[in-house]
Amino acid sequence: MTFQIAFAGGPFDHAETKRDTESLQKYVEDKDAMAILISDGSPALLPDGTLKRVHPKEMIGRDIYAPGPLFLGLDDGKPLFAFNLKVDADSPASEGEQFENMRNVAGRMDPRDLAIAGRAKSLIGWHVEHPFCARCGNQSVSMEGGLKRVCSNTACAREHFPRVNPVVIMLVVHDDSVLLGRGATWPEGAYSALAGFISPGETMEEAVRREVWEETGVNVENSKYIMSQPWPFPSQLMMGMICEAKGRELTINTKEIENAQWFDRATVEAVFAKDSEAFLRPPRFTIAHQLLRWWLTT
Ligand SMILES: [Zn+2]
Repeated sequence: MTFQIAFAGGPFDHAETKRDTESLQKYVEDKDAMAILISDGSPALLPDGTLKRVHPKEMIGRDIYAPGPLFLGLDDGKPLFAFNLKVDADSPASEGEQFENMRNVAGRMDPRDLAIAGRAKSLIGWHVEHPFCARCGNQSVSMEGGLKRVCSNTACAREHFPRVNPVVIMLVVHDDSVLLGRGATWPEGAYSALAGFISPGETMEEAVRREVWEETGVNVENSKYIMSQPWPFPSQLMMGMICEAKGRELTINTKEIENAQWFDRATVEAVFAKDSEAFLRPPRFTIAHQLLRWWLTT
């Protein structure tokens, strides 16, 4: 059984060693170069739901935000860029350019397009939020086509690299039941795997133990890694784990989650077969969905 991890499987050669100014200029001028467009974190799609692709030179004259031309990499040898566009009443979108919230369209987008748009969204988001050097406060500038930022103060010259935040997301099982939780703002009936950011000084296994204990008061052991997912909201690496609960008693920490509940395998199976509405399952493009599907095969 295969598990489709949304936002993964990008077709990129990141071309990390060929990002000097001369190479970048060649990429922009390459007749096969392509660029995708992002505005406020949303990719431009064509009416058929695929990513709109333009030649980078078509961007001349448009209002472009940080980081300028973002070189994503080589897609089958062809340079692929992303541009962060300003789109508002003064700078309207071009004909046929529809910017869509990626969370709303992820379930319908082509997996390859989704991986491209996810990488672009995470990188652009990082550039937009890091205009200044975190060490000395001077402006930093995008270098190597957006692979890093460098402080413009030559006495500092600190390099800053795009950040990925590690998160553990875990199925907590006991006998043949799984513990799922829900956030206060989630749609009614929605339940998903517990999750939390890894803290400095922790292994993934230690983070699993701490998060499950903090949110539900359940002690767990035997954590195992299953699969991971890049998650571009804004830039996490979701590390999918499974662990065993030592008991079922719950003490819900309502500062962190609204509720948590044990569901037996038959119930989860029925929900995934759409034969039951015992809870609203996580969307297919989330790792929580794939982890639960994986668990049902074990
Ligand atoms: Zn600096």
